[in-house]
Amino acid sequence: MTDSNVRAVEVADFDPLELKRKYAQERAKRIRDDGIAQYRQLTGPFAELADDPYVEPGFEREPLQDEVDVVVVGGGFGGLLSAAELRRAGVEKIRIIERGGDIGGTWYWNRYPGAACDIESYIYLPMLEEVGGMPKNKYARAPEIWEHTKKIARTFDLYRDALFQTKITDARWNDETEKRTIRTSRDDVITARYLVTSTGPLAHPKLPRIPGIESYEGHMFHTSRWDYGYTGGDNEGGLTGLADKRVAIIGTGATAIQCVPHLGAGAKELFVVQRTPSSVHVRADRPTDADWFRNQPKGWQRERMANFTTVFHGGRVEEDLVHDAWTESFFDATDIAAQGIVSPFQMSNFLKMEDVRARVDSIVDDPATAESLKPWYNFFCKRPCFHDQYLATFNRANVHLVDTDGQGVERIDETGLWVNGEHYEVDCIIFSTGFEVGTGFAAKNGFAVRGRGGVTLDEHWADGFRSLHGIHVNGFPNYFYVGGLEQAGRTANFAHMISEQAAYLGYVFEAGSGGATRTIEVTAEAEQAWVTEIVELVTKNSAAAQNQAFQQECTPGYYNNEGAPSRIAIQNGAYGGGPMAYVEVLNSWREEGGLAGLSITEAP
Ligand code: NDP
Repeated sequence: MTDSNVRAVEVADFDPLELKRKYAQERAKRIRDDGIAQYRQLTGPFAELADDPYVEPGFEREPLQDEVDVVVVGGGFGGLLSAAELRRAGVEKIRIIERGGDIGGTWYWNRYPGAACDIESYIYLPMLEEVGGMPKNKYARAPEIWEHTKKIARTFDLYRDALFQTKITDARWNDETEKRTIRTSRDDVITARYLVTSTGPLAHPKLPRIPGIESYEGHMFHTSRWDYGYTGGDNEGGLTGLADKRVAIIGTGATAIQCVPHLGAGAKELFVVQRTPSSVHVRADRPTDADWFRNQPKGWQRERMANFTTVFHGGRVEEDLVHDAWTESFFDATDIAAQGIVSPFQMSNFLKMEDVRARVDSIVDDPATAESLKPWYNFFCKRPCFHDQYLATFNRANVHLVDTDGQGVERIDETGLWVNGEHYEVDCIIFSTGFEVGTGFAAKNGFAVRGRGGVTLDEHWADGFRSLHGIHVNGFPNYFYVGGLEQAGRTANFAHMISEQAAYLGYVFEAGSGGATRTIEVTAEAEQAWVTEIVELVTKNSAAAQNQAFQQECTPGYYNNEGAPSRIAIQNGAYGGGPMAYVEVLNSWREEGGLAGLSITEAP
């Protein structure tokens, strides 16, 4: 049986006030004093868990000492698209520096069984028109996405100067030479006039600080470093190595939803340790209609990306082109909310989540397990998930849901884990516990970007993020921060916002980095104006303020700083006008010409 049969919920089936109370209760259970400090990095005793399992050990090369036009840190979508656009803008020497063994970023690291993208492939695989290729399905699997990133790198000749398995250790600005010196873990010393960092908002795996975690003597790994040597199989499943193993997976976010069905099929016994259930919606994947795809007009992909983002954020379009569970999120509930008990938005959200909960009942056989799998929070408090096998996996006799009722794992010992006073002995613990968010640039990336006077980004951002357009930073000439979630457009289709930022960057280079240009830097005034706009949009604009209030009521997670939204969180937050308004800002800024807010110095 799959998860695709859904029962539509009738309004009469629930009491809105009762639901509101239930949501608040479930949230309260999960609020913790330690916030993001409940997590730790994969360092010290856990450093090996961060090692790259996909490369041959022992790679060595001679250190490099040379000069390039641009160093791009990160070979994921952000770095790759920036580099591709810079190439289009005529930049010759572009050096991508990447800690992984190849291009790909998220799609290099996340190879776990079932890894796939639940944003439609036609809007998620960037530059489809430029590099060619037709996605096999409406939703692409991880290997196909990774291949596509490599194709972009080949098309724009980005492998030529790239350095892999190399970590930046320092990126220092020199006021005399007006260039940066980039040092790396392989003793390279590279001089570059320009620096782009695009190290990814969810790129560094984290572990929960569960008491006793270091005492565990069984096997363990993080989902973003999947140990196929231990489990056997590949992205398609076939985890034969687990046939005689008792396995626990901790976490039930978007990653776990995708790999649990394969673990359930492969492991002798599987314990899925849940703190907060995900909302799991219909996926309904299908093969691409080749005729339709080939007949798309020029410029279709950008248009489709914009169409999706517009619909998804409540804007009006003639036709919902993507037309899937993301875009069908809400319907107008004005009539049924008219009693004034809750807002139309809240009413439609309740209905959506009631459907999700009804879906659990219709698929999961055991009523107690079904009850535990129901999410009690608003749609979009956490990343919604889309899967047609996850829930049905709990009907297998070898799969057990370990519901911690919002409390998480109590402790870990030599042989397994403890939840609600009960011990679960397991051969292997898989951490599906997500990625660092909000820990600061240097802590996360392992190096500091330095600007004038040796000031680091973290020092500059000590009282909150500061930028123009989420990209330029005052005091940091010739530096571009790309693909960040801060002060930029934020939407479900990450590839869309990155494509827009990369195109913008290409423009800045074409317009502002002509032969004689020495420095491009945002003025202090322009930076302050953008910071003010970001904060005021949230505090004064009613839609953005509503969104902030919405987040405040949400169950904790990385979307809302683990349940503690703050003034800094607002300043570090997204552009409050919404992602399409952000795109509009970038577009009109370009159309205006003149690089407003940027100060350009040229050689005498
Ligand atoms: P998440 O941060 O979403 O999930 C981490 C999970 O670990 C949560 O369920 C969390 O529970 C749980 N957890 C943390 N600490 C403990 C503990 N002490 N005891 C028990 N459970 C614990 O990470 P993911 O890797 O799942 O996803 C990260 C993001 O990656 C997604 O939000 C999405 O943006 C992206 N992604 C996208 C996919 C796609 O299809 N496009 C697929 C996969 C990932 P709690 O919720 O209570 O904090």
